[in-house]
Amino acid sequence: MTSDKRAEPIRAVKGTRDLLPPETSSWQKVEDEARSVFHAYNFREVRTPIIERTELFARSVGADTDIVTKEMYTFEDRDHESLTLRPEATASVVRASIEHGLLNEGGAHKLYYMGPMFRRERPQKGRYRQFYQIGAEVLGSDHPAIDAEVLEMLLLFLERVGLRSFTLLLNSVGDSKCRPEYVKALRRALESVKSTMCPDCQRRAETNPLRVLDCKVEADQPIIAKLPSILDHLCPECRQHFDRVLAELKQRGIPYEITPRLVRGLDYYTRTTFEITSGALGAQNALLGGGRYDGLSEMIGGPPAPGIGFSIGEDRLVLAVEEAARGKEASTPGSNDAALAAYVAWLGDAALGPASELARQLRREGLSVEIGYEPTKLKKSMGIASKLGARFAIIIGDGELASGRYQVKDMTAGQQEEVEPARIASYLKNRSQDSAIQHYETVTPDLDP
Ligand code: AMP
Repeated sequence: MTSDKRAEPIRAVKGTRDLLPPETSSWQKVEDEARSVFHAYNFREVRTPIIERTELFARSVGADTDIVTKEMYTFEDRDHESLTLRPEATASVVRASIEHGLLNEGGAHKLYYMGPMFRRERPQKGRYRQFYQIGAEVLGSDHPAIDAEVLEMLLLFLERVGLRSFTLLLNSVGDSKCRPEYVKALRRALESVKSTMCPDCQRRAETNPLRVLDCKVEADQPIIAKLPSILDHLCPECRQHFDRVLAELKQRGIPYEITPRLVRGLDYYTRTTFEITSGALGAQNALLGGGRYDGLSEMIGGPPAPGIGFSIGEDRLVLAVEEAARGKEASTPGSNDAALAAYVAWLGDAALGPASELARQLRREGLSVEIGYEPTKLKKSMGIASKLGARFAIIIGDGELASGRYQVKDMTAGQQEEVEPARIASYLKNRSQDSAIQHYETVTPDLDP
């Protein structure tokens, strides 16, 4: 179509992003590593729909939370049902577990997920309207060792992706027995100070005082710091549970920082809550968050089923991993994407068929291979191979066709050898092993206690 005037380009929606190569390689790496670590702890994957009934989040996340009041993408479907793009996945995982009877089977169910979530927040670095979470949930056990095991798994995962500097913040938010008493104490304390706080806090002081502790307004922070601490109001059972979690963490050598204001922005949490922050992230420093939600199943019509889980912000994780890899000699997670094993260069029409046959064979062997289909001079082909970062170039011209041996050029060392086509795959594999690209370095986590 020809036209003098180009149509106005259509851009991505505000707060959403296109993830492009080579960055997508970092995403694949963290996802692969998550699958491998979660598998080692016997978690299996669950995939739930991106849209759910609005009521699911209103009942579980909580009608007075920021997420539900301000941030959800909610719309009326054509049959007038209210639907919402999921702002988080724990409620969906529990809903699915109830719907498919998993919770009636007894024992602990360990599930993990990864995928996009949607919240209409003010976009900035590390905060998007479509963002990605990798999370895991254990349903059916309230044993404190499970809490510690989940944290142990998380730290192993962070170690595997190369993160070394982060802090584990830990708290207990009590349960349905002791929290109401604490909320009363909080409401009383807020009586005298709420008029000096932000409008949201003034409202929350009436409707849901616990949410005051989530407030991010700078001027409110000194007031919040003086409010009563939930840790002074835990019932004996919750206290004992928390102490046992701390003992289990100590036994595993996992350092933590107790943070009594950490209540997390969702209503369903009970007992253990935690967050991991990373200095590499700047303002949006929360890398992941999680905790116990022992009453969540009942809230959405299921049987009693205690649970604990976490959700890692994948966008932030990738930022932190790339930050950690920067400045290090080791290859960055993204660099594996560039590990093209070979570029096949053919000279003369007769070589095209054998060249594409060779590319097909090598690709079936799992090697990453590129071939150009436009006739190209040798020098230019070598330029392309080098630009693509190919480890080897394979040259096939009339001479090679006649001798039945192709030229295999090591693009780093510069030397060249003649190899029979059938042997090229193993030749490339053996030679690349010498300079195998390292995946993440295994490091000991350097947690600030
Ligand atoms: P939450 O579900 O609110 O507990 O959040 C868990 C994690 O998801 C946070 O620690 C962040 O890393 C990430 N996260 C939450 N909201 C956003 C957002 N709008 N953009 C990017 N990451 C987010």
